Amino acid sequence: MKGMMQHRPLLISDILEYAAEAHPRCEIVSVRTEGDIHRQTYPETLKRVYRLANALKGIGVEPGDRVATLAWNGYRHFELYYAISGQGAVCHTINPRLSAEQLIYIVNHAEDKVLFLDTTFVPIIEGVKDQLPPDLRYVVMTDRAHMPENGFDALCYEDLLAEQPDSFDWPEFDETTAAALCYTSGTTGNPKGALYSHRSTVLHALMLGLIMGSSIPQEAKVLPVVPLFHVNAWGIPYASPLLGHSLVMPGGALDGENLFRLMDSEGVFSAWGVPTVWMGLLGEIQKQGRKPEGFSDVVVGGSAAPRKMIETFEKMGVHVGHAWGMTEMSPIGTHGNMPKWIKDLPFDRMIDMKAQQGRRAFGVDLKIVGDDGQRQPHDGKAVGELFVRGNSIVSGYFKNEEASAKAMDAEGWFGTGDIASIDENGILNIQDRSKDLIKSGGEWISSIDLENAAMSHPGIASCAAIAMPHPKWDERPVLVAVAAEGDKPSLDDLHRHMSEHFAKWQLPDDVIWTDALPLTATGKVSKLTLRQQFADYKLP
Ligand code: ADP
Repeated sequence: MKGMMQHRPLLISDILEYAAEAHPRCEIVSVRTEGDIHRQTYPETLKRVYRLANALKGIGVEPGDRVATLAWNGYRHFELYYAISGQGAVCHTINPRLSAEQLIYIVNHAEDKVLFLDTTFVPIIEGVKDQLPPDLRYVVMTDRAHMPENGFDALCYEDLLAEQPDSFDWPEFDETTAAALCYTSGTTGNPKGALYSHRSTVLHALMLGLIMGSSIPQEAKVLPVVPLFHVNAWGIPYASPLLGHSLVMPGGALDGENLFRLMDSEGVFSAWGVPTVWMGLLGEIQKQGRKPEGFSDVVVGGSAAPRKMIETFEKMGVHVGHAWGMTEMSPIGTHGNMPKWIKDLPFDRMIDMKAQQGRRAFGVDLKIVGDDGQRQPHDGKAVGELFVRGNSIVSGYFKNEEASAKAMDAEGWFGTGDIASIDENGILNIQDRSKDLIKSGGEWISSIDLENAAMSHPGIASCAAIAMPHPKWDERPVLVAVAAEGDKPSLDDLHRHMSEHFAKWQLPDDVIWTDALPLTATGKVSKLTLRQQFADYKLP
């Protein structure tokens, strides 16, 4: 027997309509490419989104068309999220840090019809324009006074909006309609597209909202450092308007000094980003001898949050959420969401717990599969590949049958490529990416564990553990490290420091000092680059 309830499609346009009505005082505060700080409320944003939706129609955008963005976090980018998907087109966010080759590939693969770009990225497009689709239209996201010279006949964003009425009737369509497209950074092979639907996006927003609602009060300011050009800024542009948060959009200046200044002057409550961003902020906090005013909550994700970072934030009274997810998961899988009782543990033990990734979000199912293909128990000991299932997880890749076929198992679960255990309390512990695990003498060593232990030495600011080929043991671990101020520790020193947590054979064979670790397009430490960089290195 079926229930007798109405069935309304879950559509993204409803999120902003709701925010404008329920949270009219909340603002989007943006550091603009024009150089100033701009503020507008959700009702003002909605009006501009109506204008933009009309403008998109005016330049020929139709349902199903891909409309690309190449932009920092700012109110115009946020407007595009809603105006594009609201009318049934697909918002394709492009990571400007991709190589020219990857950018050319994805614009052509996505068959984008229009490309919206910040002034910052005009030179990038000028460099590759000849290899982009000839009928692609360009819109520069600024006003007439700031329109840069450009060789591609671009339209001006504010001119487009100025001509339009500030009302728009959102069409109603099937909730499974595609809404947004995001390509993985593709460390090997071509990038692959995750194509989110209205339904998956709205459900993800509700899911994330449950988590955010437990730690961030209404009308608090939330700062997504995580870019709108990567996995929908982890879903914040959809969840925060629902919850009544103001958004602080940092533009392109993401170094510690600029972030500190912005957070301090705006009184940001909660900030979200990858560990490398927080390294910069912590450096500035140390310099200033205080944290930014009002800063109370930080979400660290995208790669493992170093234990020392979690400890430092918690000691200054900043609550840490350690999130794990993937582009293919919209992206939230877990959010460092811990049972309340961990607060009663001794401080060190509590930090150990927070260095794990926490419990799954509602709507995400997790399973661990061993080398034998069998499902493993959730006992905190059994380790295997992590598979996921849920309404905000991909069922394949956009226009890529080969990769789609490889991605899913026979039961329809998506293979993450992460190696993990799950304990009796449902707490996920990511040991490593399968390609980053170090295999020595037939036994695995977790690079994340090595890095955490090494970084707890005061002489190391940041580091990465990578595998080096070895004739007898297959692979041996080596640390590539950036020194903190003061004396560099010797290898013996490091071994003494780390030996509490590791057997002797698990300790790194060498430490290579460097000035900075290479980063991926999403700001994570690039182990692929490190492995290439030290391909000729000889173990001592
Ligand atoms: P890409 O950087 O390739 O575009 P994603 O941003 O989707 O991909 O990265 C997803 C991967 O990042 C996960 O599969 C996992 O290996 C890693 N990751 C993300 N968050 C965490 C975390 N909190 N701890 C450990 N690893 C993480």
